[in-house]
Amino acid sequence: KVTLFWFRRDLRLDDNAGLYHALKERSAVLPLFIFDSEILENLDDPADARVTFIYEQIQDMKQQLNAKKSDLIVRHGKPLEVLKTLSDEMAVEAIYANHDYEPAARKRDEKVAAWAAKAGIEFLTFKDQCLFEKDEILTDARKPYTVYTPYRNKVLANLSEFYLKSYPNDLYESSYAKVKKAEPLLTLKSLGFERSNIEFPPMDLSTKMLKTYHATRDFPADEKGTSHLGLHLRFGTLSVRELAREAKKYSPVWLSELIWRDFFMQILWHFPQVENQSFRPEYDKIAWRKSKADFQKWCEGRTGYPLVDAGMRELNATGYMHNRVRMVVASFLCKHLLIHWYEGERYFAKKLLDYDLSANNGNWQWAAGSGCDAAPYFRIFNPQTQFEKFDPDGKYVQKWVPEYGTDEYPQPMVDHNEARGRCLQAFTKVLKK
Ligand code: FAD
Repeated sequence: KVTLFWFRRDLRLDDNAGLYHALKERSAVLPLFIFDSEILENLDDPADARVTFIYEQIQDMKQQLNAKKSDLIVRHGKPLEVLKTLSDEMAVEAIYANHDYEPAARKRDEKVAAWAAKAGIEFLTFKDQCLFEKDEILTDARKPYTVYTPYRNKVLANLSEFYLKSYPNDLYESSYAKVKKAEPLLTLKSLGFERSNIEFPPMDLSTKMLKTYHATRDFPADEKGTSHLGLHLRFGTLSVRELAREAKKYSPVWLSELIWRDFFMQILWHFPQVENQSFRPEYDKIAWRKSKADFQKWCEGRTGYPLVDAGMRELNATGYMHNRVRMVVASFLCKHLLIHWYEGERYFAKKLLDYDLSANNGNWQWAAGSGCDAAPYFRIFNPQTQFEKFDPDGKYVQKWVPEYGTDEYPQPMVDHNEARGRCLQAFTKVLKK
């Protein structure tokens, strides 16, 4: 009899909670990864870098497991169908995995749990991708927090060694199922994808960066000013516990960022409707503009506002954008162009390597003003002032918008003051009622 350990967004063999429990509690643990056909079908770029990233990670884990005389089974299909097929091929006694909080993942897991219960297979899941989950941090009235600062304070008051310790998976390595011959790995091509040539950020958390983060984090020209670990947190190639331990030692500000990540995860858990509705529903009643041409200019980085254009071009070229610039481009779309946050959120979802529904949605709604604990609607970033303040030498803009300052660079697509007035009018009409 085998126990399957099903990897999802926790692509590592060390310090992995669900895998640790499987290895400790069972013998013959066979790791599994499923390329979910429904997710892949929704990606429109055949060279989507995230698929390459996952593929490379899978390849690496498979090699590591082969070296231990075990294997990583990799399949392509609808998860429930794949699990059913596997349970026909082998005697599966249990399936272990880690929690996943996104609405679609919750539905997937509910279906798997219902099938497993009928089939007499245990389905067990664990907390792994965040420090605190679901109902672990609640207000004194046992309600979910919808404001960040008190949430963070409660997290900090509770963040003991217990929550930060690593799971020593290697202690129970002998529980991996032994295989006579490893299965060949399916190819990227068979999934309908090709290898992307985007360079992925290294898995490196620099102590030097942590120590200066509070001072460097707002300046996009400083490429070493932030960690670039979002992608690794997204796919679980690094453990959040390990990172939080370092943060606790060297940078309370960086730790606060990890807490923002948890915060938005619990928001999505408690308020799953935010996936496609404003947290404050009245924001969906604003007369949002539907200009395809304006949206296109924003997507391509041709707005005539240099910091906005630099950010969008960085995103399109690398799958990354600096946080300060994400805030500016998001505000520009929702407020200066008066286009619904959802359009921008979906564009980021296609492009960002570190795209994560909870963080992306939470931050977009924050920028639009429609979210929990959002910036007040009347605070409208001036994209030119932001440029002067956060890219004072123009180094970041120069890198991504080399024609800035020449005749080739377009005039601003909207006048700041006019756009600001239009936005305030549209917002107050609905929000003041
Ligand atoms: P660092 O500054 O080194 O921070 C470390 C880690 O903390 C990040 O990797 C991330 O996991 C977490 N983090 C930092 N800031 C936030 C935040 N505001 N909210 C939640 N988590 C945070 N982050 C994502 O991980 N995925 C997204 O899809 C995403 N979309 C965003 C969309 C908008 C409009 C905005 C304004 C922000 C978004 N962020 C998102 C948050 C933030 O911009 C990125 O996490 C950060 O820029 C990633 O760079 P880094 O890894 O160098 O971060």
